[in-house]
Amino acid sequence: MKRLVGTVTQGYGVAGRNLAPVLPLIESRSGLHPLVPNTLNLQLAAPFPVVPDFTVTREEYNGAEEILFQHCRVKGISCLIMRPDTHQRGAFHGAAYLELMSTLWLRKRLHLNDGSTVTVEVDMRPDRRTHGCEACRERRPGALEQLGEPEHIPFMGGKAPEIDTHFRCTTCGAKWVHIVESRAGGHGDYWHSEPA
Ligand SMILES: [Zn+2]
Repeated sequence: MKRLVGTVTQGYGVAGRNLAPVLPLIESRSGLHPLVPNTLNLQLAAPFPVVPDFTVTREEYNGAEEILFQHCRVKGISCLIMRPDTHQRGAFHGAAYLELMSTLWLRKRLHLNDGSTVTVEVDMRPDRRTHGCEACRERRPGALEQLGEPEHIPFMGGKAPEIDTHFRCTTCGAKWVHIVESRAGGHGDYWHSEPA
């Protein structure tokens, strides 16, 4: 879990209007419904590159930008970070800026004003067994089926054991491997795509 601290700012005030046509898509992909057609905007001290749980493609949006979304929580409230790919690369607000969506009016619910400080919790290791397939954006729980039994690999004579579990997306066929490594230096937990 990563904690980001941001300062509430006024945005350009256009996010709500721009997002209105794709709001149903965002609701179905995020599982958050109904979403407030507006964003709470936070300035961060340092850039935060969004690791998308799902996207709305250029074709689905305005033909010019793809929008990246990452789940997060603010005071226990489920929210989404909404980041156009152009901003992720530094244009407009840049990457040291969060635009949050939620089913609640966060400003009112959390009694926020411009300049208020907000802590955002982000899960940096979404589990694809519950977050679904990144290749086809299928988010249905159980979209990935496990292939065979987990493989126990005793790297370095057992000093760096690793457990690899292979999965296949039942929607698009993409293959994923979940790697858990435990070694002297610490514990690792990763998901990688594999050639189909
Ligand atoms: Zn898939």
